Amino acid sequence: MDLFIGLDLGGTWLKYGLGDGDGRLLTRGKRPSEGQRGREAIFGSMINAVKELLGVAKEWGEVRAIGVGSPGLVDYQRGILMGGAPNLPGWEGADIRGVLEREFGIPTFADNDANVMALAEARLGAAREAKQAIFLTLGTGIGGGILIDGQLYRGAWFAGAELGHTVIKFDGRPCNCGNVGCVEQYASAPGMIRTYWEILAAKGMSPPAGLTTEQIFARAEQGEVEARKAIEDTAYYLGVALASFVNIFNPEVIVIGGGVAEAGDEFIRMAEQVAVRLAQDVATRGLRVVRASMGNEAGTVGAILLAVESYATLVSG
Ligand SMILES: [Zn+2]
Repeated sequence: MDLFIGLDLGGTWLKYGLGDGDGRLLTRGKRPSEGQRGREAIFGSMINAVKELLGVAKEWGEVRAIGVGSPGLVDYQRGILMGGAPNLPGWEGADIRGVLEREFGIPTFADNDANVMALAEARLGAAREAKQAIFLTLGTGIGGGILIDGQLYRGAWFAGAELGHTVIKFDGRPCNCGNVGCVEQYASAPGMIRTYWEILAAKGMSPPAGLTTEQIFARAEQGEVEARKAIEDTAYYLGVALASFVNIFNPEVIVIGGGVAEAGDEFIRMAEQVAVRLAQDVATRGLRVVRASMGNEAGTVGAILLAVESYATLVSG
């Protein structure tokens, strides 16, 4: 059997798995990514993960390719990290393909982590069978993916699909990308928490320390008006960005994942209603806005699918 390895690199954890040519997971694991200890340590963690999987793979077949999802801007053509991964110090410039191919002699492909998750949702998850789709992951930041005619859109030099940096407020909150008012500053987890703080502060109330978005949803559930307002505002900000995506891409489906979205369908419905109200009417007919369905395995399965599809292209020449 042809086998494929997927590595899903994060700031804290490296998740990894072995799958078949359909992206079915045969085995998986996770270990510390060593993300704070520099490039050599991260590669060390990745190499150990691949060695572990190669040991297991022997009983099933042959590993044909390795796929890697990494935070930051990844040159898919060369498998090199170009930048934009502040949570992984020293990772910029990492030659992911070069290092892993030299170590294992197995074709290796790397892409941005949000693209890899989008691929999992597009092939096996919530956007299955869709040809035109938009993917957002609402977490510490906002990851974006764009599917056009069934293929991931990466941009002219792989710096595209940064949907989190869509400006929704031109005089808004400063963003770490250098711009102001990016939707990431409003609809990410820290963005929602900040909105809640501002609502409390405007009423002379002091925000609780160490608050999470789960707690804001729980407080709203208990009837707290400030928490409710923070959720509505966050859904509105997200909906404004979604309306732009609908007007630009006319997607069949928008898939939303990550911690903020997992809090409930109601939040997604609120954002959807805003998008439908603001976007051009024709573009919203038949539009579906849904939650991601691949859960915690999206990154690993997506990296396996990246390996599967890239390897197929390589072999077909
Ligand atoms: Zn930004």
